[in-house]
Amino acid sequence: MIIYTNSRRLVPEQFAGRAIGPVAFILKKYRDDTGLRAHEQKHIDDFKAAPWKTFWSWLRGDKKWKLRSEVRAFAVQCLDESKPISVYKAAAFIATRYGLDIFEQDAYLLLAQQIGKIERGLA
Ligand SMILES: [Zn+2]
Repeated sequence: MIIYTNSRRLVPEQFAGRAIGPVAFILKKYRDDTGLRAHEQKHIDDFKAAPWKTFWSWLRGDKKWKLRSEVRAFAVQCLDESKPISVYKAAAFIATRYGLDIFEQDAYLLLAQQIGKIERGLA
C-alpha cells in the first residue's frame, strides 16, 4: 500500500519516500513520479517476499542488506518507462543518503549489474 502524505515524520528530510514493511509513504509533491512509486513498491514487494528476514535485517541495521535493498529499488526506478532516474543520480543517492560507506563509483557498478539482471529477466 502506498500512501501520499506531507508528513516529514513519515518521510524524513532528504528523502521523497519511505517504505516501512508493507506500507510506503511518498510526499504528495511526488504524486506523479512513477519511478519513485516503482522504487517504493519494490521495497514493499521485497518485504512481502521475506518479511522476517527484512525485519531482522532492518532491526540489526544490516548495511549489506540495506545496500542490496536500495540497489534493487533504485534499479527498478532507473528502468521506469515514464519517469526514470539516471544511474548516476541513483548512485549518488545510494552513496550519500543512507550511511552505507560506499563510493559512488561502486554504487554505480552495483546498479549497472542489477539493471543488467533485470533486463535479462534474471531479477
Ligand atoms: Zn529505497
